[in-house]
Amino acid sequence: MTSPPPTQPAAHVERALCVLAHPDDVDFGSAGTVATWTAAGTEVTYCIVTDGDAGGFDETPRDQMPILREAEQRAAAAALGVKQVEFLDGYRDGTVTPSLELRRDITAAIRRHRPDRVLTSAPLRRWDRLAGPSHPDHLAVGEATTCAIYPDSRNRFAFPELERDLGLDAWTVREVWYLGGPNPDVPVDITDTFELKLAALRAHVSQVAHMEDLEGMLRERFGPLARTLGLPEGRLAEAFSVFRTA
Ligand SMILES: [Zn+2]
Repeated sequence: MTSPPPTQPAAHVERALCVLAHPDDVDFGSAGTVATWTAAGTEVTYCIVTDGDAGGFDETPRDQMPILREAEQRAAAAALGVKQVEFLDGYRDGTVTPSLELRRDITAAIRRHRPDRVLTSAPLRRWDRLAGPSHPDHLAVGEATTCAIYPDSRNRFAFPELERDLGLDAWTVREVWYLGGPNPDVPVDITDTFELKLAALRAHVSQVAHMEDLEGMLRERFGPLARTLGLPEGRLAEAFSVFRTA
């Protein structure tokens, strides 16, 4: 007999690191939750793997898209009280794989910021919603981040150059929150932070300006999700799969 993995998150953590593939991923899936964390005094940092240069729907020239999307992500973060946003170098939107290089770069971010909690995209493909959550970049970042949580960032002999050249000591992350995976079972009530989530998403002008009813679309998604997971009528919820990692 083995017991199921513990999925109840810690009531409060000092630091959280969100590792996502594209600008706007963290906001579509989890901005309401991030706002509850910063309000509770958790220091939240974003590590975004690509600059989203394959996204967008407007006439923005492709070579300007990375600069634009980085600025949009920083504005969205500021709306939620997130002070640090970093972008990894060398990864192109649409071409991310769970490579050793990506594991090393995410390990370096974890050791730099020393988070108790990491939020990332689920590495598991959803057959019922292939478009969106199961973008290959999301799966790759979820996989590489999971490998960075265990074993890489806690093992000082993994990527020894991080300690030798950058002075980054081993660090153990205590819990992981997965976004966009199958059957999420940990709801976070975002009714009171919904306006902040909207503000964060509206900061991604190149991605949402063409959407006629962003607010209605979000309510249609996060209202039923709240009810499915047992919250009262009229509440909104984001949902995650949460696992203890230490
Ligand atoms: Zn994405």
